[in-house]
Amino acid sequence: MEKIIQQFLSEVNQKNQNEPEFMQAVTEVAETVIPYIVTQDIYYGQNILLRMVEPERVVSFRVAWIDDNEEIQVNRGYRIEMNSAIGPYKGGLRFHPSVNLSILKFLAFEQVFKNALTTLPMGGGKGGSDFDPKGKSDTEVMRFCQSFMTELFRHIGPNKDIPAGDIGVGGREIGYLFGQYKRLKNEFSGVLTGKGVSWGGSLIRPEATGYGVVYFIDEMLKANNDGLKGKSITISGSGNVAQYATEKCIHLGAKVLTLSDSSGYIYDKDGIDEEKLKYIMNIKNTRRERISLYTKKYSKAKFYANANPWSVKCDIAIPCATQNEVKLSDAKNLIKNGCYTIGEGANMPCTADAIHLFTKNKLLYAPGKASNAGGVAVSGLEMAQNSLRYTWTREVVDGKLKEIMSDIHSSCVKYGADKDHINYLKGANIAGFVKVADAMLAQGVV
Ligand code: NDP
Repeated sequence: MEKIIQQFLSEVNQKNQNEPEFMQAVTEVAETVIPYIVTQDIYYGQNILLRMVEPERVVSFRVAWIDDNEEIQVNRGYRIEMNSAIGPYKGGLRFHPSVNLSILKFLAFEQVFKNALTTLPMGGGKGGSDFDPKGKSDTEVMRFCQSFMTELFRHIGPNKDIPAGDIGVGGREIGYLFGQYKRLKNEFSGVLTGKGVSWGGSLIRPEATGYGVVYFIDEMLKANNDGLKGKSITISGSGNVAQYATEKCIHLGAKVLTLSDSSGYIYDKDGIDEEKLKYIMNIKNTRRERISLYTKKYSKAKFYANANPWSVKCDIAIPCATQNEVKLSDAKNLIKNGCYTIGEGANMPCTADAIHLFTKNKLLYAPGKASNAGGVAVSGLEMAQNSLRYTWTREVVDGKLKEIMSDIHSSCVKYGADKDHINYLKGANIAGFVKVADAMLAQGVV
């Protein structure tokens, strides 16, 4: 088996050299899915995984724009259209200086499995730019978004490819992108999700990824006759996913001790309550400042510069910042301090060796493609509401989100049950694969 997996990976690696994040995501899937494929006559010999690692289309383009000093700036834009077997391409846009082809291909590949797990009809894609919104004025961000959309608009559409937000792309950016698309096409359509509620957005969409992660963790705990009430939680990041994961933990009676950004983390041993969270939302979303400001208002809390929160004692850790933020040494610290549950809010936040350690020690480990699928699920619900020209209430959308997270949990259990343990990574990868592979087989060699 090991030989078959290595042969496959070496073939993929040859075509995708210098793409470490993409290879990391493919390796994680290959190690769990290939042993399943060889036992299934319908999939074996069809080269389905080899077809799935090849994007259907990759677009790369120049984004030129003028900054506030009237200097011309040039960034690179991308859209990866990975797989459309079960629906139009769907996945976020990331604006961050680290963005490159490898990172977007890993994200697009993960997205294919994640979207399949939601059971909604969405294929997988991802895009973005190496543009850094940090420190830019609103008008600079607007000019960049307009230039970016002036090329992207010809590749997307409500039945073709429907982008959304990700790191660096929130409500403000989606607004500017949508405005430019509408102007270029002269049509008002559901071409982007994460829109404002008064112009086609869904209630609960901003909350969905963070809430969904916590619903998924709750399902894992319930399956072990356990619950969130009274648990201590460490969370990284302080953006969209981290904020709403914190809110839902507070609602369910847990104590959130940490949040972070790229400058370091804050530790509040009394726990971050709703009022404190509101202040963090103000710092990050309105003032667009650093998380360290928190300790100016709440002086009992401490700020640790250039560090992550994984050395803080907790029951549950929820990484919600970025890829590979939990390394092997962090995993060792978490286990040493008694942490027994990891729910990934970010995409691929744990390195491969950290995951192996969690699995070896039988921690409850939820991979992002399952646990953070709530965001894209509610994006799917936003698309449904746009088609119906109708708006569901908060309660209806939240109810559907809970049901979807519970169903994803059941799919992971179905395909991930080992002798005395549920391997959620294996379960998520196989469940996602089966749905996409069946559609690809039905549609022939395309
Ligand atoms: P935001 O841009 O709202 O927030 C990102 C947060 O992570 C910020 O606090 C940011 O700090 C921090 N961060 C980003 N890059 C780094 C880095 N290299 N090192 C340390 N900290 C970093 O993004 P989201 O909350 O939307 O996304 C967070 C993660 O969740 C990403 O992995 C994303 O792919 C994933 N995700 C998001 C979904 C969504 O619906 N938004 C859906 C599913 C997954 P700073 O402010 O200093 O930059």
